[in-house]
Amino acid sequence: MGEPIIIVGAGQAGLAAAEALRAEGWRDEIVIYGAEKHAPYNRPPLSKGYLLGETPAAQLTIRGAEFFAKKRIELCAAHTVSAIEPDAHSIVLDDGSRRQCAGLVLATGSRPRELGIEGARLSGVASLRTLEDSAEIGARIDRADNVVVIGGGFIGLEVAAAARKRGRSVIVLEAMDRLLARVASPAVSEYVARLHAGHGVHAITNAKVSRLVGENGSVRAVETADGRSFPADLVVVGVGAVANDELARSAGLACDRGVIVDACSRTSDPAIFAAGDCTARRHGDGALSRLESVQNAVEQGKSAAAALMGKDRPFHAAPWFWSDQYDAKLQMAGTSAQADKAALRGSMAQNHFSLFYFRGGKLIGVDTVNRPGDHMLARKLLDASLSPTIEQVSNPDFDLKNLLAVGAPA
Ligand SMILES: Cc1cc2nc3c(=O)[nH]c(=O)nc-3n(C[C@H](O)[C@H](O)[C@H](O)COP(=O)(O)OP(=O)(O)OC[C@H]3O[C@@H](n4cnc5c(N)ncnc54)[C@H](O)[C@@H]3O)c2cc1C
Repeated sequence: MGEPIIIVGAGQAGLAAAEALRAEGWRDEIVIYGAEKHAPYNRPPLSKGYLLGETPAAQLTIRGAEFFAKKRIELCAAHTVSAIEPDAHSIVLDDGSRRQCAGLVLATGSRPRELGIEGARLSGVASLRTLEDSAEIGARIDRADNVVVIGGGFIGLEVAAAARKRGRSVIVLEAMDRLLARVASPAVSEYVARLHAGHGVHAITNAKVSRLVGENGSVRAVETADGRSFPADLVVVGVGAVANDELARSAGLACDRGVIVDACSRTSDPAIFAAGDCTARRHGDGALSRLESVQNAVEQGKSAAAALMGKDRPFHAAPWFWSDQYDAKLQMAGTSAQADKAALRGSMAQNHFSLFYFRGGKLIGVDTVNRPGDHMLARKLLDASLSPTIEQVSNPDFDLKNLLAVGAPA
């Protein structure tokens, strides 16, 4: 037997890479080191069903012990890798031991961005990344009178919805001028703001938090730069994530807000690959982008495995994402960022609509609420570079599926 392929990080991306390596025909050992004590689990329910007490912890596990035994993948949970040594083809564990490897995948994920203001470390101030974080926030929601969520992004809004569903008074403080400002179109931001207002959440935009005020070590209020104070006994901070790229940085790999990879998950070191939240992807035009999604983690993991086997498997599919808030399932495909026109199908007032975004007449993204069929169709259209016309989208009698059959050009 030769040296193993070592995967650092037992999350979505690390697991996908291991699974794909076996599928690609790697016969020798595969070892995954994961700092958490759990087998790889799904994070999306941590701010949705699990936080609401509707999804049990056991259902979060992506693959159980049987799978690892069957695929001969050694899962070393609760093992942290403290360094990688590219020249020696080895990794160092936090107990000081070393292990040689035939190839290396970095899949170390990301961590919540810290607030970095006075009071950020008070008891009752939490952020959400792990199963334990979610369990802790859930328990605190039950004891809280006033929940303040800092950050009107997906995780913050999902936590706000969960806390509201559990009967708490909830305020969301967003520094920018609209909710979901970095990821959604103004129309979707407005819809989401109305959705939360309708459920009694007070979402305040342009609210720059300046400090958290405590009493006996526990948070009591959140203050904003304009002098307002909001009572709080639970503060959930959802202000984005930071890539865990320190191992790569220390080893001299190119990093810029993440480990820089190409479409095939290759890093600047030909023997090292990276996948998932820890990466920043360099595109053909030189631009860098970071995606934090299950799709990205899985696809980059598969591409890393293929690359280790000497194959190019570029990941070019349209990005997609979802979010559950109250009874609204929001699904996004492609992007709305550069859109010059949008067309609506369905009814926003009835929580059942799709917004199709165009640039220069070409479909670039689709956001849907409670229309999963449109979401799946949008992904197919985007991946095939097919565009409906605005008239076709706006005509409820036109069946957009026809476009797939005829292959209308974009
Ligand atoms: C609350 C929440 C809700 C989300 N909701 C959605 C959603 O609705 N839809 C969606 O598409 N995405 C969602 N995401 C994002 C999605 O879960 C992530 O993009 C995905 O989990 C990334 O997978 P990953 O394998 O890159 O990282 P992770 O899942 O974070 O796994 C990385 C693992 O590496 C471990 N690790 C780090 N450093 C080391 C080391 N030195 N040694 C050993 N192990 C190490 C970490 O402990 C971690 O377990 C959500 C994320 C969160 C936190």
